[in-house]
Amino acid sequence: MKRETIAVSACLLGVNCKYNAKNNLNFKVIEYLKGKEVVLVCPEELGGLSTPRIPSEIQKDGKVMNQEGLDVTDNFLLGAKKTLAIMRQAEAKSIILKDGSPSCGFKCIYDGSFSGTRIKGKGITATYLQLNGIEIIDLET
Ligand code: SF4
Repeated sequence: MKRETIAVSACLLGVNCKYNAKNNLNFKVIEYLKGKEVVLVCPEELGGLSTPRIPSEIQKDGKVMNQEGLDVTDNFLLGAKKTLAIMRQAEAKSIILKDGSPSCGFKCIYDGSFSGTRIKGKGITATYLQLNGIEIIDLET
């Protein structure tokens, strides 16, 4: 029988794809994924952004701006679409995402002011995946 395939935010498995070229290695996630097929995705890199990159936050109007005032919404949308395409190809129906990110956040994001203030909300990829029937597994990431 084919093993279940789960997608995961690459930074949670130690890939240095964060904006500051670091990662969010999470041993709870590693433990959960034991014995499963895994596909790694980083929506911001998939959207064409470099690593390291200027941090971005979702604004009140829904656009994504980086801290230097550049509109990177299209990169975030492209990353979301590519993430879904990769998941479809891998037949992955669920994903473990890094919360708090403007892409991967699924319970909270930053408020757009670059002041470190978290608010309830979802990132661009999390929203897009859920709209397309993907389950987000909450491991308190
Ligand atoms: Fe991690 Fe997602 Fe940010 Fe990529 S976009 S670094 S996978 S939280």
